[in-house]
Amino acid sequence: MSRPTPGEAEAPGTPGTPAPTRRTAVVTGAARGIGAATAVRLAADGHAVAVLDLTEEAGAATVARIRDAGGTALAVGADVRDAAQVEAAVGRVAEELGAPTILVNNAGVVRDNLLFKLSEDDWDTVIATHLRGAYLMSKAVQAHQTAAGWGRIVNLSSSSALGNRGQANYAAAKAGMQGFTKTLAIELGKFGVTVNAVAPGFIATDMTAATAARLGMDFEDFQKAAAETIPVRRVGRPEDVADLIGYLCDDRAGFVSGQVIYVAGGPLD
Ligand code: NAP
Repeated sequence: MSRPTPGEAEAPGTPGTPAPTRRTAVVTGAARGIGAATAVRLAADGHAVAVLDLTEEAGAATVARIRDAGGTALAVGADVRDAAQVEAAVGRVAEELGAPTILVNNAGVVRDNLLFKLSEDDWDTVIATHLRGAYLMSKAVQAHQTAAGWGRIVNLSSSSALGNRGQANYAAAKAGMQGFTKTLAIELGKFGVTVNAVAPGFIATDMTAATAARLGMDFEDFQKAAAETIPVRRVGRPEDVADLIGYLCDDRAGFVSGQVIYVAGGPLD
């Protein structure tokens, strides 16, 4: 598939439909799960995608999926908690794919425990990965977005932001992502940048598989039990979240900003 150069519009598909503009997107934690599905979605939507994860090797499979489908992707290794690594990663993306104007802050970890057993290290790791990571990445990418006068940031929150036993660290981080989102939406709106949060419920990924293993449950049984509590009677797939993120990153979503959208198969508040 032939691709336009960065910044160049693709040919319109349907007469009267504006040509989708090809942007450069960065998706953190894109080696697997929701991040991988999001990188694939954004690439299918015509964007060049930086698949950022802890190591370049970790992102190789996602990059191969995108390239096999005719898309453009680059694997970038960086720990989102590290300011120097984030700066270098965003600089490399700008050089090799074009200035990034779409950012999905998806990298995440869980370190579950009840408060009285929750170590300082597990508290700090979770808060730093989600909040410091999103802060550093957003700060680096907004320079390109404000220069372009256009941008999209989507932050991964969670239904756990509403409170979840054994997840004081994770719930605090995911509630923090919501305040961070609303504040950036207020600050960056005048530069054409929208900022939203998606808050998934139960999505079948390695993260929820690890939770099942920790609880000594078979992952299939764990998913069945979860599905019974969800109005649509199934657990989520990474693509359920990725498709919403794809929309929020689109030109058509320019008047949607500062929102927290739950993707949980039913209402949550
Ligand atoms: P996942 O399968 O565990 O994938 C997360 C990815 O982030 C992994 O590749 C991980 O690398 C990477 N990562 C972790 N720390 C990083 C760091 N410091 N720098 C760069 N990359 C890092 O998780 P997921 O289930 O797809 O979840 C994705 C996001 O959605 C997370 O923010 C999560 O909290 C949120 N979420 C998930 C669910 C769910 O049910 N799955 C529900 C609500 C919200 P390593 O594997 O090497 O650590």
